[in-house]
Amino acid sequence: MNSMNASHAVGKHEEDAVFSVLKAAQEAIASFGREKVINGTIGAIYDDQERFSTLFKVNEIFSSLSPEEIMNYAPISGLPDFLAASIDITFGKHRPEAFVKAVATPGGTGGVRHVFYNYSEQGSKILIPDWYWGPYSTIAAEHLREVQKYALFNNDYQFNIASLVEGLKSLLHFQDNVVVVINTPAHNPTGYSLSFPQWEQLLAEIVGCVKEKQKRVILLVDIAYIDYAGEPDQAREFMTLFGGLPENILVTIAFSMSKSFLCYGLRSGSLIGISSNKGYAEEFFNTNAYSNRGVWSNGTRGAQRLLTEIIKNKDVLVSINKEREELRLLIEKRAGLFLDEAKASGLNICPYNAGFFITVPCEQPAITATKLAAENIFAVPLAKGLRFAICSIPTYKIPGLASKTKKALTEI
Ligand code: PLP
Repeated sequence: MNSMNASHAVGKHEEDAVFSVLKAAQEAIASFGREKVINGTIGAIYDDQERFSTLFKVNEIFSSLSPEEIMNYAPISGLPDFLAASIDITFGKHRPEAFVKAVATPGGTGGVRHVFYNYSEQGSKILIPDWYWGPYSTIAAEHLREVQKYALFNNDYQFNIASLVEGLKSLLHFQDNVVVVINTPAHNPTGYSLSFPQWEQLLAEIVGCVKEKQKRVILLVDIAYIDYAGEPDQAREFMTLFGGLPENILVTIAFSMSKSFLCYGLRSGSLIGISSNKGYAEEFFNTNAYSNRGVWSNGTRGAQRLLTEIIKNKDVLVSINKEREELRLLIEKRAGLFLDEAKASGLNICPYNAGFFITVPCEQPAITATKLAAENIFAVPLAKGLRFAICSIPTYKIPGLASKTKKALTEI
């Protein structure tokens, strides 16, 4: 095939999994009316009137920022107050005993990019779960890396720690650096969260894998949905476990403002590095700040200032947490309805603890999605299942959804 691209960029193209289904849902809405269509494709919170949700206090503070604070550059590594705020918000009361540094990134995506690029060799493999957020493999490929998948669940749909450890050991055999991605709590696309004891067990296993000092494991903990993962303080308890780890384990956390403050489009977050070695923490800061300059320069100043204003005033933070809590409970209510009906109708679903999505594992996701689309139900077909974005489906449309999905699966 002819191409103007450089050799490594030939063939770059990807159908957006959500976009085509969303388009079909929008066409159905235009033909039949909004009430008749269930659009389970959008990974953003919509209220029960199907309006895009934002947090009032967040909007108010953002609107009150001066033009200079919105329009000006931020420092390359991020405003220092913003970095401190992102660390405080990420850990809450569960800050690990370790050296901690942060660098501003455009959302969690930016953090994923930096970890993939700076901590894995070109051409090497990154360990990700088999149920995963699609961009992990795109970002790996974009940076000339590959992904290897561990099975997130065993046959009983429980966390498959054995598969993760096996994958890690096999990669460590050939690579000195292995990046391992763990998307928890409220994993996309299943809503699964690792428990505290599972985290303890996992970290003990990883420590066992890096007894040889030249082997290094870089954990990337993607916490994009943490503020919708049950009680926010409890959801952070596992973070204390990141203290006191061997020096050849670097833990990184991709903090994102997108969901926590419902400002997806402002593109703001930070990559947090946690190490028992002061020098490695400083290296983390320098390396990722350098990458900021080399890839996108600085982050969105207005969003960084927004977070610093929020954290400055305790009452503001309390009020935002309260607003967000209402939305979290709304999603929990929708999930509860879906899960009860799934149980009653015998519909198998991936283990769901919390979060924006519920996923139904199935053999033929695309055919199932098409069958449901004929009934004006739109869900995103993944490689091994169907994803329902309950974050955006109004509560009154949830009853019937699980049983209709079960029926569609039975008829295939
Ligand atoms: N990680 C997961 C699992 C996600 O689902 C998303 C967004 O959908 C992100 C990270 C990154 O989002 P952002 O770059 O907006 O923070």
